[in-house]
Amino acid sequence: MPFQPHYTPEPVFSRLGEGFYDVVQSAEFPEHIVRFKNERWAERMGLGELDESAWIQHFGRFEPLDGNLPQPLALRYHGHQFRNYNPNLGDGRGFLFAQLRDPLDQRLLDLATKGSGQTPWSRGADGRLTLKGGFREALATEMLEALGVYTSKTFSLVETGESLTRYDEPSPTRACVLVRLGHSHVRFGSFQRHAYLEHHERLRQLVEFSVEHYMPHLQDEKDLPSAFLREVVMRSADLCASWMAAGFVHGVLNTDNMNICGESFDYGPYRFLPHYDPHFTAAYFDDYGLYAYGRQPVAVFWNLQQLALSLQPLADSADLVKALQFYEDVFAQAMTRHFLHRLGLLEQGHKKDMDLVSATFAFLEASQIEFEQFFFDWYGGHTSEARAKESPMSSKYRGEAFQLWFEMVGEYLPKDAKSLEHAYFQRPRPCGLLIDEIEALWAPVAQEDDWTGFQEKLAAIREKGEALGHVAADARYPGPHAASLAYEPLNAS
Ligand code: AMP
Ligand code: MG
Repeated sequence: MPFQPHYTPEPVFSRLGEGFYDVVQSAEFPEHIVRFKNERWAERMGLGELDESAWIQHFGRFEPLDGNLPQPLALRYHGHQFRNYNPNLGDGRGFLFAQLRDPLDQRLLDLATKGSGQTPWSRGADGRLTLKGGFREALATEMLEALGVYTSKTFSLVETGESLTRYDEPSPTRACVLVRLGHSHVRFGSFQRHAYLEHHERLRQLVEFSVEHYMPHLQDEKDLPSAFLREVVMRSADLCASWMAAGFVHGVLNTDNMNICGESFDYGPYRFLPHYDPHFTAAYFDDYGLYAYGRQPVAVFWNLQQLALSLQPLADSADLVKALQFYEDVFAQAMTRHFLHRLGLLEQGHKKDMDLVSATFAFLEASQIEFEQFFFDWYGGHTSEARAKESPMSSKYRGEAFQLWFEMVGEYLPKDAKSLEHAYFQRPRPCGLLIDEIEALWAPVAQEDDWTGFQEKLAAIREKGEALGHVAADARYPGPHAASLAYEPLNAS
């Protein structure tokens, strides 16, 4: 019996009915070569015992999972792309394949594809994903998970034997189909679509659906749309702060790329920061730096404003504005929490912590030290002083901005001093994911089909995740009573 007893199918999206999706089929691919299988999350979802042929049957040929959606659904949505409204979006190269409960924390999760073929929303494009695109998304999700960012997971990557032409990659180039495990594929743009089409009943239905399945603690609120917006505002603010602490630039913060659970997903031209630079931009087509590192907090807020506008037919504008006003405070609180966490230090209260975060930025800017190396060297604060002195970057640890920061950090205790004993912290260099390294990892795959560098990198990323306490060392399903590592709903306060 390949499905483990804790596999819990719950295909609810189809209940929304007409107007929310189109029933579609997967493309038929000439080949199916499994390039990545997320053993840990497969195990957690009760799909860890599928053998290679069953894996391909479900995640390469998309035969339905037991008790799950009988046919894939391409979701309908609109969205603002670089601030221009596009009413022709929707799942153009992907679909919702299955829904299931996380047996550990009871979240409703989706298995959804990228690169599975054309749909009514492909707009003449091929519906495919390049292998390099899938390779990059797998690395991004693993690294973000290791850093404690709330992210979708790459569940499966199957090379399909097709060859694609892309103007922004050496072509022809190889293709793959990626399966993503995510906490909802309901996007800001899903609401924008119904508002734009003036389908107000569907808009209401989607709000109720979202609360029922993703925010059940709000179910008794009198003004559901405003309570829903407030929740999305808080979750998105928290997510954005976690990107800032991770030094992550998503690259394409369009409203169709933001989901209602504050989970980061859809990784195209993302980049990690080499060193602190608010203008650092990920996407080569982002001509004005709209989604640059330092602009992400404003971009997310702008997107939330569009979500609020789309909810106007259902709620009083003043109440929606009140919900939006949560953003600033939640973002500020989340910034200190995520940066203190990144430094491996115990929090001491928002105001004091904010001063430390400001001093951290001042030093990062003045020194232009490698972003990742700094957080690696000083994890746990002064406890790491001897280690930081041995760092290849130790010459940066001097000067006024450093002294100020060093004195301030002396007042903080490590969150978990034991984690510094982890093998990860015995290395001279941290495990990062800058663009040059991604290209260097890709070259042997492209040239000789050699995946060893990729495999080794994944192992290194997971070791980092273990050291930082975000990835469990033991991949086995720990049973229904184990605490979740991944997700804690925010409290409205
Ligand atoms: P993305 O940039 O991946 O968020 O995609 C934006 C929109 O373009 C979505 O509606 C996608 O489904 C669609 N899209 C992107 N690439 C393709 C493709 N190769 N074929 C069909 N649709 C695509
Ligand atoms: Mg997208």
